[in-house]
Amino acid sequence: MKDCIFCRMVAGDIKPRTLLETDRILAFHDIHPQAPAHALVIPRLHIATLDDLPPDDPELAGALFQGVRQVAALLGLSASGYRTVINCRGDSGQEVYHLHLHVLGGRKLGWPPG
Ligand code: 5GP
Ligand code: ZN
Repeated sequence: MKDCIFCRMVAGDIKPRTLLETDRILAFHDIHPQAPAHALVIPRLHIATLDDLPPDDPELAGALFQGVRQVAALLGLSASGYRTVINCRGDSGQEVYHLHLHVLGGRKLGWPPG
């Protein structure tokens, strides 16, 4: 998807502050952090929303969640705790239509979210 900003990162055209790369996923710092630590974990494959996760590829969800766990450890959040968020379409406020898991931490996070 040449007009997708996250696909351009996967392709190497745009270089984010990368935290982790595997054959299935990429993780990098969010450009507008909402907490002292804010990273995004994305599949290399262009998947627009959580609802578009391919049902015949359950390992992809596993790879994404393992990525979250590893990123949290890299950011030093494992002991203090962190939050993972997936926004899905309009009401959630999803802005980038390439599936991504937010990893937020480094401060006490409020609940419920706004
Ligand atoms: P959404 O609202 O779609 O769940 O979140 C999209 C996230 O992507 C936002 O937190 C936003 O700051 C981040 N983002 C958008 N464009 C870029 C970019 O070019 N680089 C990085 N690192 N993050 C981005
Ligand atoms: Zn994409």
